[in-house]
Amino acid sequence: MKGWEPHRGAVDRLIDSYQNLPAGSPVRLAKRTSNLFRPRAAATSGLDVSGLDGVIAIDPAASTADVQGMCTYEDLVVATLPHGLMPYVVPQLRTITLGGAVTGLGIESTSFRNGLPHESVVEMDILTGSGEVITATPDNEHAELFHAFPNSYGSLGYATRLKISLERVPQFVTLRHVLMPDADSAVNAIEEICESGEYRGQRVDALDGTAFAPDEIYLTLAHFTDKPQTTSDYTGQQVYYRSIQRRTTDALTIEDYIWRWDTDWFWCSAAFGAQHRILRRLWPRRWRRSDVFHRLVGLDERLGISKALDRIKKVPGRERVIQDIEVPVRRLPEFLDWFDAEVGMRPVWLCPLRTQQPWPVYPLAPGDIYVNVGFWGTVEVPADAGDGWVNRRIEDSVHELGGHKSLYSEAFYDQETFEQMYGGDVLGKVRSRYDPDGRLSTLYEKAVRNS
Ligand SMILES: Cc1cc2nc3c(=O)[nH]c(=O)nc-3n(C[C@H](O)[C@H](O)[C@H](O)COP(=O)(O)OP(=O)(O)OC[C@H]3O[C@@H](n4cnc5c(N)ncnc54)[C@H](O)[C@@H]3O)c2cc1C
Repeated sequence: MKGWEPHRGAVDRLIDSYQNLPAGSPVRLAKRTSNLFRPRAAATSGLDVSGLDGVIAIDPAASTADVQGMCTYEDLVVATLPHGLMPYVVPQLRTITLGGAVTGLGIESTSFRNGLPHESVVEMDILTGSGEVITATPDNEHAELFHAFPNSYGSLGYATRLKISLERVPQFVTLRHVLMPDADSAVNAIEEICESGEYRGQRVDALDGTAFAPDEIYLTLAHFTDKPQTTSDYTGQQVYYRSIQRRTTDALTIEDYIWRWDTDWFWCSAAFGAQHRILRRLWPRRWRRSDVFHRLVGLDERLGISKALDRIKKVPGRERVIQDIEVPVRRLPEFLDWFDAEVGMRPVWLCPLRTQQPWPVYPLAPGDIYVNVGFWGTVEVPADAGDGWVNRRIEDSVHELGGHKSLYSEAFYDQETFEQMYGGDVLGKVRSRYDPDGRLSTLYEKAVRNS
């Protein structure tokens, strides 16, 4: 636990480094890890966020934690679990930070009942564009900033401290992998679980899905329990996502459940050979983590290995399609049909969610069920395909179906459409109050122009 004095010192250093940035230079966090997946203009200097990466204090009686903005969920969970507590939503990738998930919209299997990570934030300290740190709550004089912050990606300032509510959790999680023969059946089951909180008589505490094929969609129903279980281990030779097809039931410790997707970065570790029987034995356990695979992607880009292999295989062109989108639950079958016909990438990850109140910069209808669809890979495209040939069509399809696209990856919207979809009016108003000199990049500059 960091404690309050070191926290104040770290905030002072951050403010100093902000004041010392030359006017006009890009403002960027000097952070070791990132889960963004879009190219970004190089920054010459970054804000000093050293010492802002921990948990300040936990109040077990109140079930709250004061957490620094750049604290990873990995470190946060290590601090909360000994108290039998965890954040209401823990994104699957270990190095996602609390500030990153709140400003960049995290999601996970508890989202069907707990919404998104920002919905359990009680208050936030934010370094604004004008250089001061203010405390924003849902109903104080900075409420407008509090509500506009989720999905603003640092364009309204940087969260230095967040007070969050925590949920009581037991030590074990039992899983049921339920096979759905088609997307309509999956939709019906998702609606039933969201409405009743149970499936076939058993409470469902967490819910996600893996769609391997149009007629092979598994919903994984998690039940939190203190009853001792014989647990599986997917941090070793076994691969979690493959177990979904092989087993109908399973059990994990709560910690292994939280990180079940991180070890193999969902299924994406296969691209590096990390799921190959022999290579996996040689692959050090500490390197079976999403941040290591993320760095390998960067290395591949720098060395041009995949591009060289494509040239040898005479692949005409290739586009990266790494996105998470949300569609209203009833439109899921249409989206998957379209996706199979036009993109053709499986498996895809499904995660139902329901927000509790309106959030202007990511306007989902509160109380309505949406399903997040995650797909991460590359597709072959014609040699003359323009920039974002596939990604642009995904944007159109999602828009037509009444959905939204997360902004952690590449986006191609024109500015007018973008501002209509992502609360442009509200963002503009809040920016003019908290960043009158326009010191921070706008959301459009960050998300589409990759600044
Ligand atoms: C392949 C892939 C799969 C993903 N899957 C999931 C998923 O399943 N579940 C999920 O929850 N998320 C997922 N994400 C998205 C991820 O949650 C977001 O990208 C999130 O913003 C990353 O947080 P980070 O802490 O790594 O932030 P960074 O990547 O460092 O930064 C993200 C953005 O947030 C800003 N930012 C960072 N910290 C702060 C702060 N303290 N205050 C204000 N702004 C800040 C940065 O300026 C930047 O614009 C996925 C991303 C990828 C690439």
